[in-house]
Amino acid sequence: MATLYEHGTLAMLMAGKLAGTQTLGELLKHGSYGLGTFDGLDGEVVILDGEVYQADASGKVNHVTDMQTTLPFASVHFPENEVPLKVGENDFASLTSNLTKSYQLANVFAYVKLDGVLDQVKIRIAPKQSKPYPGLLEVAKHQPTFEASAISGSVVGYYAPDIFGTVTAGGWHLHFISDDRSFSGHILSLSTKGLSGKLEIFDSFEQHLPIENPEFRQMQVDTASLQAGIEAAEH
Ligand SMILES: [Zn+2]
Repeated sequence: MATLYEHGTLAMLMAGKLAGTQTLGELLKHGSYGLGTFDGLDGEVVILDGEVYQADASGKVNHVTDMQTTLPFASVHFPENEVPLKVGENDFASLTSNLTKSYQLANVFAYVKLDGVLDQVKIRIAPKQSKPYPGLLEVAKHQPTFEASAISGSVVGYYAPDIFGTVTAGGWHLHFISDDRSFSGHILSLSTKGLSGKLEIFDSFEQHLPIENPEFRQMQVDTASLQAGIEAAEH
């Protein structure tokens, strides 16, 4: 038994609902490892062993301890049945497709944490938006990117089956954080000679919605264009 908990949906971000709707304190009751973003799509968040790191659009990494900070979208879990994992020489595309095939992940939710040295990594960081919020597709056009080479750290994130691709990011959604916690963000590309770490496969997915939020209750989702928009914004 292992549960992946998600607050908010990707469809909400696409519709420009970027205001934080859950506190960090509440989120951490549901998991000690995860990914997310803060109020106004403020950066890329990595949660490791209950510690929260936010990469902001300047490229700086902040250790966040204010439990009142809010998030519009986040996924977290508690480790339950981790299995050891090793990958060889790879780039992003082959790493992710090998993982999906080797561990038969196509139809399950899964988490990986892979540690080691990346020869090269390119990340992007969502910049904080102000109201009236644009949709995620618009934000995705103007995101700063950063690169590092010969950097030691962790590749962390989730796999979700394509059929859930409007609730969360379908396929792989991976962030990087360096061991010295000075470089982090959403991974666009990488290369490595090998990494080792852990894999967790979830048998349950818990979707939490911000039912007290009037904007969410009134939100109109254009389902016809949603999938194509997500494809353009997330990949
Ligand atoms: Zn991300």
